[in-house]
Amino acid sequence: MQSAEEVTRCPDCGHQIRVDRRYVTWCEKCDWNVDPTPLLDLTPAWRLRVEQRLVDSLYRELERGAIHRPSWDAARITANLLSVLILLLPLIAFLTGIGLLIFYRPLWFSIILALLALTIAFVFRPRAGHIDEANIWYSQVGWRFRPVIGIGLPLWIGLRPQERVAILAHEFGHGRHGDLRSGWLIGNAHSVLEGLSATFSESPLDAARREWGAEELSGGTLFSRMVNATVGTVVRGLSAVLNRLELRSGQRNEYLADRRAGEVAGSEAAAHALERTLLADTSYDAMVRALRFPSELAPLDAVRRAVTEVPAREIERRLRVSRVHGTRTDATHPPTYLRTKLIRTRPATSARVVMGIDQARNIDRELASAAEQVLKEVKAEL
Ligand SMILES: [Zn+2]
Ligand SMILES: [Zn+2]
Repeated sequence: MQSAEEVTRCPDCGHQIRVDRRYVTWCEKCDWNVDPTPLLDLTPAWRLRVEQRLVDSLYRELERGAIHRPSWDAARITANLLSVLILLLPLIAFLTGIGLLIFYRPLWFSIILALLALTIAFVFRPRAGHIDEANIWYSQVGWRFRPVIGIGLPLWIGLRPQERVAILAHEFGHGRHGDLRSGWLIGNAHSVLEGLSATFSESPLDAARREWGAEELSGGTLFSRMVNATVGTVVRGLSAVLNRLELRSGQRNEYLADRRAGEVAGSEAAAHALERTLLADTSYDAMVRALRFPSELAPLDAVRRAVTEVPAREIERRLRVSRVHGTRTDATHPPTYLRTKLIRTRPATSARVVMGIDQARNIDRELASAAEQVLKEVKAEL
């Protein structure tokens, strides 16, 4: 269902570019309009440069074959220790508060100190973990830390058999490397810091008010501004340090899990699977459209068709967007274009697990009733 081919000239470099009305028009020569909705990013330029250097040097080491397994380097150990401290802080503060009330006299003074300690405990309390809207996730649930892999239905449906093997192998690869235990720790520390940073930062409304000069300096606003400036700065600093420590080990783990996926499913399938994850929103939109405007095509078949119809040029554009964004969208994952490049630069010889079309169909049949239920729920929500 290819639309009539149109061409136009790039306004930046004059290169002739193809136009497909269903997708973004961009220039492959100079990257004009490669990302029509750029991220609003306030990260200082020096930090972006530091991160970029880190990302590049890690990539080069992996490309040379200098890294084979995750190691407990200084950065990883420090990140874990820092996370333990952040998570232990509320407990220590809570116990200190209670201890002060029981043992410390005079009582009026111990009440003041205890209030302070209990406030710290409350402010730093661990937040309940939530499942983010990512399309693929792996975590351990419950007190027995049972591993659970979550893959969005439309994304899964759009994967070819061998790509499914690759995605599963990647996620199980994390489990083998023990990434999850430290992931759980650091992830929780992050969510505590995020909650704090949201509490102790100037809201856009405050900034706007100051801009318009409409704010008079009452004692209350002065106090809250002081707290934001001190606690907020400490929290943001901690968060930046943790990010920086985690960047390298987090990204290295992703590359190693990718390598594992290549060994199990074959390198080409592993690289394709990553490219498919760039189409997650396409498959989701196709599912929603099919539910809203039912046709003779079953919703999941519509998803499958929408994903296979995406031209290679659009996939290439999305890969380039991942290069432009660098670590901005997600610091723990290397940009997808580097991941697929590494997989293809150091390919595994052959696949250890080969899934045939029949097996893939059997899986679809097995999932059919659950999928039906999901579609019903999504439809009810629309
Ligand atoms: Zn151009
Ligand atoms: Zn991963």
